[in-house]
Amino acid sequence: MPIRFADVGQNIYDFGDVFWVQCPRCQWRARVAAVSSANEKAPGWLFGPRRLTCKHCSLSKDCAGNGFGIGRQPEDWYFGLSLWLQTPCCGQVLWAYNERHLAFLEQYVGATLRETTLEAGNRSLASRLPRWIKSGQHREEVLAGLRRLRALLEE
Ligand SMILES: [Zn+2]
Repeated sequence: MPIRFADVGQNIYDFGDVFWVQCPRCQWRARVAAVSSANEKAPGWLFGPRRLTCKHCSLSKDCAGNGFGIGRQPEDWYFGLSLWLQTPCCGQVLWAYNERHLAFLEQYVGATLRETTLEAGNRSLASRLPRWIKSGQHREEVLAGLRRLRALLEE
């Protein structure tokens, strides 16, 4: 039985609600998320105040969130801090914003049969993943990288 992955058109924005980053003060794991979760996923939710919080050293820092930058760098979109979930893999850097993003990648890479649904279109995250992640040739290596990310999340 193949392990299926269905691309239902989730895009990178669907995973930008929470970012685990490296705390700029203590280098431990910190979180970047909307200050108010009340209007999460409402129109315009990508804009608005974001808060960096670290449980380890109690750092708390806000930014207006009037703009954000989505790059191909392993950084959060608001503070531009290094992601916590990143690891060298296949000569590249494998990274994820948060647990849901990691779970998405685990499902995608772990699948032996990938299906695209009509809703997916060509803007879906799955269709835009870099070739080295998509390639079956790297499957085991990428899966091992994802396990390292999972371990970082549970640290
Ligand atoms: Zn800290």
